[in-house]
Amino acid sequence: MHIGTGRYRGSVKETRLYIPGSVIRGIFGLALARLVCREPSYTDNHSGCPSKDSCPYFLLYMDGENKSPRIFFKHAYPVHRGCGGIFVQAPFNLYACRCGGTKLQSFDPLVEERICDRCGSELKRYSGYICSSCGELSRVPVRISRAVRTAVDRSTSSSAISFFELEGLSERIPFGYLYAVESVSRGDEYMFSILLSRDVSDLSGIVVRVLEEVLSDEGIGGGRSRGFGCVDIRVESISDVTEEEVERRAKNIDGERFTVTFTSDAFIESIELRSETLLAAARRAYTWIFGVGAPTLPEVKLERYTASMGVMGGWSLKENRRRVIQPVVKAGSIYLYSSSGGERLAEALAALEYLGLGGYKAHGFGQVRIGGG
Ligand SMILES: [Zn+2]
Ligand SMILES: [Zn+2]
Ligand SMILES: [Zn+2]
Repeated sequence: MHIGTGRYRGSVKETRLYIPGSVIRGIFGLALARLVCREPSYTDNHSGCPSKDSCPYFLLYMDGENKSPRIFFKHAYPVHRGCGGIFVQAPFNLYACRCGGTKLQSFDPLVEERICDRCGSELKRYSGYICSSCGELSRVPVRISRAVRTAVDRSTSSSAISFFELEGLSERIPFGYLYAVESVSRGDEYMFSILLSRDVSDLSGIVVRVLEEVLSDEGIGGGRSRGFGCVDIRVESISDVTEEEVERRAKNIDGERFTVTFTSDAFIESIELRSETLLAAARRAYTWIFGVGAPTLPEVKLERYTASMGVMGGWSLKENRRRVIQPVVKAGSIYLYSSSGGERLAEALAALEYLGLGGYKAHGFGQVRIGGG
């Protein structure tokens, strides 16, 4: 499987090590529209669908209308075979040593020492993945293969300066250029989840059918016509997100001093996750989970943060063109807040772990994990 990053290392075309929710969402949407819509033209522009009010595609995606989607695709992360957990990008406050020692740095300035407990050398910020269950670290949590290729133009055999567009790879490569495509090896496993809004929960059957039957045939990522990206998708479980579950999670959140860590890249307006932005998103998530009006939340104060910016582009399957490159706050960015706390705030923060914050939440971006200060 090859999921382009748009980057090369030398002449090697990198693959992403995780599958963005946006990629799954795009393929899923096309497959669903093809399955449920009689008229093929609605696949491209669904606002014209005459059975809009009962059409599963329209109900889930709300295409063309100014309403928020009701299906959220989270990123798919590599499964840790050792324990069954998943490898997510390590937070920016995780430091490691060459000897294998690691330390989760606290935001408390008094314990900011970055010295290895084991060997006494200085720790470096860890860039890689961490298993969300057992904490094992891995820089590359999947097996990578490389295929060497030459870009050619069969239609003209031309050697003039021109470009060959690789299907689905969202990249242009000059003719005659020798390059290598990285791919995740056959047999590696990924895990992801899909969140449905409660008013469309009766559509979970068709969601499962599209995932298991249609998507398994379509494949995922670039170069599918040349045998890349064949997948076998199994739905492991379907369950309701209950209020009790969220309340239980909230009991372990300390609203007086807490961290927000992005576990996926986030589309937010600045590198600083402002307290107003956080609170607005937490209120929205609370309403979404508990099905009641926006709660009154105490003021929160952003104390410190460690974050970095990157860019995210991608390929729009629907429009068959490259998406505009936009700035993102990178996964691993971490923010420390303080407030007067309270049950309601803890519950709203717990709800935020389901919905995420910022733009493209339905595409897996802006996922957060709340931690202790
Ligand atoms: Zn339709
Ligand atoms: Zn060490
Ligand atoms: Zn593990």
